[in-house]
Amino acid sequence: MLRVLLLLLVMVASARAETLHQYHVSFNRSLSESVTQACFSGEIPAFLVAADFKAHRLLQDIRVEGPGRVELKHGRINLYPASDSLCLSIVQSLKPLNLRGNWRNKRRDLFKVKGDLVMPVALWLWRPVRLAADEVIELRFELPQAINVSAPWPQLAQRNHFRINGKTPYNWSGRIAIGAFTPKRLRVAGGDLWVALTGGLERRRSMLPWLEQAASAVATVYGRFPLDSAQILVIPVGPDKEAVPWAEVQRQGQPAIHFFVDQQRPIQEFRRDWTAAHEFSHLLHPYILRSDAWLYEGIASYYQNIARARAGMLSERQAWQKLYDGFERGRKGLASEMLQDASGYMQMYWGGAAIALLADVQLRQRSDNQQSLALMLQQLRQCCGDNPGPWSARHLFRQFDQFSDSRIFSRLYRDQVINRRFPQVARVLNQLGVKVRGGRVELDNRAPLAGLRRAITQKTSL
Ligand SMILES: [Zn+2]
Repeated sequence: MLRVLLLLLVMVASARAETLHQYHVSFNRSLSESVTQACFSGEIPAFLVAADFKAHRLLQDIRVEGPGRVELKHGRINLYPASDSLCLSIVQSLKPLNLRGNWRNKRRDLFKVKGDLVMPVALWLWRPVRLAADEVIELRFELPQAINVSAPWPQLAQRNHFRINGKTPYNWSGRIAIGAFTPKRLRVAGGDLWVALTGGLERRRSMLPWLEQAASAVATVYGRFPLDSAQILVIPVGPDKEAVPWAEVQRQGQPAIHFFVDQQRPIQEFRRDWTAAHEFSHLLHPYILRSDAWLYEGIASYYQNIARARAGMLSERQAWQKLYDGFERGRKGLASEMLQDASGYMQMYWGGAAIALLADVQLRQRSDNQQSLALMLQQLRQCCGDNPGPWSARHLFRQFDQFSDSRIFSRLYRDQVINRRFPQVARVLNQLGVKVRGGRVELDNRAPLAGLRRAITQKTSL
């Protein structure tokens, strides 16, 4: 009995320790207006902000409910409480763009796709700039019947009910989708994917197995899905040149992947496409500075191929062919100065992938396959999963040197990242038995590192 009482006391104490802000959000049937009732108590923030400076355009009305005062000034909603709590109502008028035609630009804005609403968090959510470690916003959506929401924050037991904590900065990108869909939970190797098939895509049941296949492939990199939970949005954009013309990772709340797809293409094209494996591979690393894009694009470009080989979606030879072709594109990309962006792009993606390969091979070589790049990423998740970043390449490499008790990463950084225009992979490929004749890769199992090469694409190893 005493124990139970003590436990209850502890529970009350810890419940008290948390500052809880309550947001109740309702939408009208046509999703053209939202009303957010936000109630603050305890430490009331001095003001609320939205991350996008254009957010004030949506504001229709802001009023206090009960004592206190609010004022919109210089893009902030200033709060002047008259007691230890303050509630206000924020009415927003949502004028979404129609995604059809030129969707590439519209995707950054508020848009509608077949009646479903997709909004950047930055345009819509007004919140305190910072949330302390014990401060939480509970965001509860009250929606018309058969309408649901997909949001990038951890979901509470009740549907359409989320918890925003202070781990990711208020201005990191994320999207909220609201519409006639039901987010599906896909369990993949220890992770929950919350998949929202928007714009009528729920009728295409083959979308879920496509996502599951790519996510499961990436889970083979170190034996589990890299996150506990992730928001997945699939948004149909109509006829385009490929099945997945655009996809991106966003990291507000929990990391999320948003796929923009040509829904008219056959599912085989989705399964053959590399984009999903690439985007899921981005979940293997934390948020890395944009100035070090070569590192995050390199990790994703390397593992999109390694993971698919491990999962049997590519043969070992095909995976090395794709890596080799990529390295060639990256190397040749340097020669052309005309398309600066395009050449930079290839150099960045495949130069980074070459660094990933060099690091992986060196780690394996010195540890008899006991260490690998995957092990570094797994240890990073274990040690620092709570630190969302952004990380610099230097900081990450220092951490990896510590994990591996080596200088492999700092040396690679000095010799291959800073001092060369494209990392030197030819010798390593040769030692691995990746032989090239007329552009076609053949695998030589008598090469000195052929066993190591096989370990890289084997499902059971790290
Ligand atoms: Zn990428």
